[in-house]
Amino acid sequence: MATNFSESLTQDSDEVTEMFCEECDRHGDGYATAVAFCVDCLDYICVTCQRYHKRQFKTHKIQDSNSMPQDFYFEKCSTHPGQLVKFYCSECNKEACQKCKNNGHLNCRDVNHLPTLALDIQKSDELINFRKNMDQLSKNIKDTEKLLNAKSEVIKKQEEKATDACKEHSNKLIANYKQHYKALIDNFDKKMEETIARLKKKRLELIQRASEKVKNFEEKVRKAETDMKEEIVTTNANFKVLKSKHLNSVGNLKALTVDLEQAQKLGQNCKLFIKLKLAKQICKQIQITTDQIQHSFIQRYKLKESDIQPTIQSLEDQTRYSKSFRSYSCCHISI
Ligand SMILES: [Zn+2]
Ligand SMILES: [Zn+2]
Ligand SMILES: [Zn+2]
Ligand SMILES: [Zn+2]
Repeated sequence: MATNFSESLTQDSDEVTEMFCEECDRHGDGYATAVAFCVDCLDYICVTCQRYHKRQFKTHKIQDSNSMPQDFYFEKCSTHPGQLVKFYCSECNKEACQKCKNNGHLNCRDVNHLPTLALDIQKSDELINFRKNMDQLSKNIKDTEKLLNAKSEVIKKQEEKATDACKEHSNKLIANYKQHYKALIDNFDKKMEETIARLKKKRLELIQRASEKVKNFEEKVRKAETDMKEEIVTTNANFKVLKSKHLNSVGNLKALTVDLEQAQKLGQNCKLFIKLKLAKQICKQIQITTDQIQHSFIQRYKLKESDIQPTIQSLEDQTRYSKSFRSYSCCHISI
């Protein structure tokens, strides 16, 4: 709640047309209608204060209610609450109360009483020019607004265009980048297919070569086998001849023995004599071959297996059996 009447008056100053006594207000004496204005003190005063003022300040010029300034300004100072704004400093372009004037504008030479300054404001060139300027400014603002809208429209379109261009550019970059990698993969695939085709061709060649090699190898091994078989067969040829002779002699002896027994039985002495001589010769021959058989050596063969895992080269080198087979002699046979 306002303590001074003037404070409450400032709230709705538009409706108030009556001025109050500043002296009474300043001293907390409540509201009193101002009836005069001291031109020297620049204060509105009531009937009572006017009486004392005239006594105290005899030289002060006092204006009555008819001649005093009628343009009352009820705004209070923002720095000094309770003080009315009464002055305007044209150097600082600031309004001021009495305290502001005394403290803040000591060196300012152009601090004047606000109602006096504003007295002819209605007809002043300043206001008229300013209104003209305002009209011009208003027109400019409208024009500017049109321009603003037009430019905003252009900017909006430009933004849309630029945004679209950015998107398009990004899409192009991405597509280009993708294309590069696709080309890399395609190139890889092409090389891969070429390599596979080359390898397949090589495989075919290998199969053909392997087939030939195996055929050759088999032929070589079979030939070596045949050679070795012949060698094995011929190795004990002497023994086989002896065996054949022996069996032959035994056969002959058997036939002779039958003839001898028949001739002896029939008393054919001449025949007996001849057969006897022949049998004796055959017996001698049997004795010789028997001795030879008993003392003849037997060639044996044993296959020597290699412990090392064979390679193509080592297998090709082993196509002769002489390395694999070892022969040795033996005469003792257990029966
Ligand atoms: Zn005075
Ligand atoms: Zn008073
Ligand atoms: Zn002030
Ligand atoms: Zn100033």
